[in-house]
Amino acid sequence: MSRSQEKKCPICGKPADEKLKPFCSKRCADVDLNRWLSGSYVIPARDDEPIADTGDDE
Ligand SMILES: [Zn+2]
Repeated sequence: MSRSQEKKCPICGKPADEKLKPFCSKRCADVDLNRWLSGSYVIPARDDEPIADTGDDE
């Protein structure tokens, strides 16, 4: 099972750059950013921040 973990640039479909992923280049990142800023201002739900226990250790 060799599942490729390479992500493709959502802008042009090229393999993403390790440093710029999910984009392949700074330019594509800018394109996406502009698209995002000029488009509907929708903030996608993020799972980045883990939900910590509400501090109840008082
Ligand atoms: Zn690209």
